[in-house]
Amino acid sequence: MGVARAVRAVGQGEDPARQLYERIGAFLFDQRLEPDPANFAFAWTLLHDPAGPLAKAVAVLTDGGVRLTKRDIESLGEEAPSNARGAREKADGLVARTQLQVEGFTDMVQAIRAETEDFGRDLAASADAIRRSGAGLENSLLDDVSRITAAMVQRVHSAETRLESVTREATELRSKLEEARDNARRDPLTDLPNRRAFEEAYAAQVAAGTPLCIAVCDIDHFKHVNDRFGHVVGDRVLRTIAGALTQSCPGHLVARYGGEEFAILFSGIDLATARATIDHARASVAAKRYRLRETDSPLGEITFSAGLTRVDPDMKFGTNFHRADILLYRAKADGRNRVETD
Ligand code: GH3
Ligand code: MG
Ligand code: MG
Repeated sequence: MGVARAVRAVGQGEDPARQLYERIGAFLFDQRLEPDPANFAFAWTLLHDPAGPLAKAVAVLTDGGVRLTKRDIESLGEEAPSNARGAREKADGLVARTQLQVEGFTDMVQAIRAETEDFGRDLAASADAIRRSGAGLENSLLDDVSRITAAMVQRVHSAETRLESVTREATELRSKLEEARDNARRDPLTDLPNRRAFEEAYAAQVAAGTPLCIAVCDIDHFKHVNDRFGHVVGDRVLRTIAGALTQSCPGHLVARYGGEEFAILFSGIDLATARATIDHARASVAAKRYRLRETDSPLGEITFSAGLTRVDPDMKFGTNFHRADILLYRAKADGRNRVETD
């Protein structure tokens, strides 16, 4: 299977993670590469971002059915991710590894606890048995055995308590890590996914072969809102538009891409359906009469303009996004409060 085919060969409706995993395996096998961590990481980078610079470089090298060598991989691997992305992936890897360690630790603690519980039970049972059959044993000896057994049961019990509290700490640590990971992908003002989350979702969905459209929405004359009512009210408007877009586009990813700019990743629907969805959102935002919470005085009309394009999976993310951006500016130039598509 050629690289381009490995990138595209996907069945619809399956688990995207499994598909990616299987395509990594198929790629390594096809290229007769050992499934070692370096090759695996290379294949992941390649297939996870099929429009990225690495995929392009590999496509050039393998054009005409040439196999990649270990040396190709080493030299490509060095220049694959940009510095920022490399650092981000490193940080992600660290979080993932820490999470695995914590999970392993939790498992270990649970296993130890199960063993000590059994041990404690056996000790107690033995003590009982000795007591019951101890007719022939001297009383002082029996007392010694009982005392030692009771002390051991007590020790096992306190070890269990300590293990329990360590398990709890490990679980808390894990959930904090998950939260930190989530925060890095979320915009605190609107609570929407941020630009990073948007671009990651885009890469994953392109890799899974999902048909996509991108809409870029920008609030019209937003500077006036800030100038007339202040930034606090401007922030409130941003949250309102975030909520309206999320509500109007169920099942699609709505992200705050920048200041007063939102991006929507429409998944699994065609351009006409995406257009109807975003235009409905536009009309409902424009139809609302916004008022100041404190004084009930009107804020005036709040509208947004949007550019919408179908994603070409063979093009880079930036190229696809830029097309939507150009359409957005056409919508602005044509009078705002409208959606432009290609
Ligand atoms: P256009 O219709 O051409 O888009 O006009 P505009 O006024 O919306 O565009 P412009 O780019 O001139 O201004 C955008 C404004 O958005 C300027 C900036 O202060 C404001 N803005 C960006 N981020 C935030 C934010 O987080 N909160 C608030 N309140 N304002 C923001
Ligand atoms: Mg703008
Ligand atoms: Mg604007």
